[in-house]
Amino acid sequence: MTQSLITGSYIFAGLCFILALAGLSKHESSKRGNIFGMVGMAIALLFTILGTVLKVTGSEGVAPSGPSWAIIAILVAMAAGAVIGIFFALRVEMTGMPELIALLHSFVGLTAVLVGWNAYLEVPLADSTGLHRGELFVGIFIGAVTFTGSIIAYLKLSAKMRSKPLMLPNHNVINLAAVVVIIGLTVWFVLEPHLWQLVLVTAISLALGVHLVTSIGGGDMPVVVSMLNSYSGWAAAAAGFTLDNDLLIITGALVGSSGAYLSYIMCKAMNRSFISVIAGGFGSDGEITGDDKDYGEHRETTASEVASLLTNARSVIITPGYGMAVAQAQAAVADLTSKLRAQGVEVRFGIHPVAGRLPGHMNVLLAEAKVPYDVVLEMDEINDDFPSTDVVLVIGANDTVNPAALDDPHSPIAGMPVLEVWNATTVIVFKRSMNAGYAGVQNPLFFKENTMMLFGDAKERVEDIIRAL
Ligand code: NDP
Repeated sequence: MTQSLITGSYIFAGLCFILALAGLSKHESSKRGNIFGMVGMAIALLFTILGTVLKVTGSEGVAPSGPSWAIIAILVAMAAGAVIGIFFALRVEMTGMPELIALLHSFVGLTAVLVGWNAYLEVPLADSTGLHRGELFVGIFIGAVTFTGSIIAYLKLSAKMRSKPLMLPNHNVINLAAVVVIIGLTVWFVLEPHLWQLVLVTAISLALGVHLVTSIGGGDMPVVVSMLNSYSGWAAAAAGFTLDNDLLIITGALVGSSGAYLSYIMCKAMNRSFISVIAGGFGSDGEITGDDKDYGEHRETTASEVASLLTNARSVIITPGYGMAVAQAQAAVADLTSKLRAQGVEVRFGIHPVAGRLPGHMNVLLAEAKVPYDVVLEMDEINDDFPSTDVVLVIGANDTVNPAALDDPHSPIAGMPVLEVWNATTVIVFKRSMNAGYAGVQNPLFFKENTMMLFGDAKERVEDIIRAL
C-alpha cells in the first residue's frame, strides 16, 4: 500500500513537471507552468522523504513513532538548503540570474558525483552487478563534467574569469582522447572493477568539464548555458538510476531533453552546429575585434530630439539587449511604450533569441514590466518589417544588432543571424560608451548614417524621453 502510494504520487509529480514544461513554453501560461512545477516538486519531496523514512525503519507503511536520525538529518539539510536558497533568491539581481543558474547546475553535478561515490561505498565492488557499476560510472562522469563545467560557466558569466576561449594546441584531440579513455574505463570497470578506475574517471571528468567550457568563447555562452542545463538533467537521471528512484529518472530525463532541445534552438539562432560550439573559439573577449577598422564618426543625439522623432513616427520597434537588464530599464521602457501607443504610434518589440545572458531573458523582463505579449515578436517574425519602420530604439543591445555578423566573413560572430535594425529610417542606440558587447566585436551599426547614439544609463535616458514627450 505504501509503495503504491509513493508510485502514484511520483506519476502525479511527473505529470505536473510535464505540464510545467508545457506551461513555460508560452508567456501567457508561464505562471501556471511555474505553479505546476512547484506543486510537483512539493509532492516529490514529501513522498520521497516519507518513502525514505519508512525504508529506514523497515516498517511496512507505518511511520516510526519517534524521530530517527534519518528524519533529523533530512530536516536539517532541508532547513539549511531553504535558508541559503531564500537568502540568495532575495539578494540576487535579475542581471545575476545567469551565473546563479550556472552555480545551481554545478550543485546538481556535484550531487551526481557524490551519489555515485556513495553507491560505491555502500555496495562492495565484489557484490555489485555490472549494470550497477556501469550506472554509477556514467553518473560520476556526467556529474563531474557538469560540476566543473558549470563552475567555469559561473566564473565567465559573472566576469570573474575572461570569457576569451582558451585554445590549447590540439584541444579537440584532448577532448576526444578524454572521452575515449572514459569509455574504455567504463567497459573495464563493468567487467573487472577496481577503485583506481573510479578515481581516474572522476579526475578526468572534472578536468574535461574545465577544459570544455574554458575552450568556449563568449559568443557561444548561450549554447553552453543550455548545454549545461541539459547535462545537469542527465546527471540527475543517472543519480536516479543509481538510487533506484523512478521520479529522479523521469525528472532528469525531462530536464535533460528539454535542455538539449534548447541547445538546438540556441545553435539554430546563432547559425552554429553543436559540434562547432564544442570545438570552441566563437567570439572573443579582452581586445575588441574589428576596433582597428576605420568606420568613420558616430553621431550623438539628445533625449528631447528622440522624443520629437518618436512623436512624429508612425511605427517604432524597440530591440532590447543585456544593457536593459543592467539598467533595470524595463519598467521605464514599458511606460514609454504605453505613452506612445496612447498617441497612436505603433510600437513593437523585436527579441533576438540570445539577447541578454539567459535564454528568454528579455521576454522575462518585459513580462515583469507588463508589456503586452502581442507586441513582443521574435527576430524571425519582425526582421522583414524594419525597412517600413520609422524609428528603432536599440536599448542596451549590441552583438544582437551587429551588421558585421552578416557583412564581415572574418568577424568572430560571422554567420549569426541578427536583428537588421539598420534597415529602418532612423536608429537610436542607447548605451553608456562606445564599448563592444559581450562577444568583444566592434559594431559598425554605431557609425551608420541613419544611426544616432544616445549615451548614458538606459533607464535614465528613457525617463528623460518620457518627460520630454
Ligand atoms: P551585449 O552584451 O552584446 O551588449 C550589451 C550592451 O549594453 C553593451 O554594449 C553595453 O554598452 C550596454 N549597456 C550595459 N549597461 C548599460 C546601461 N546601464 N545602460 C545602457 N546600456 C548599457 O548584449 P546583447 O543582448 O545584444 O547580446 C547578448 C550577448 O550575450 C551575445 O553575445 C550572446 O551570445 C551573449 N550571451 C547570451 C546568453 C543568453 O543565453 N542569452 C548567455 C551568455 C552569453 P556600454 O558598456 O557602452 O553601456
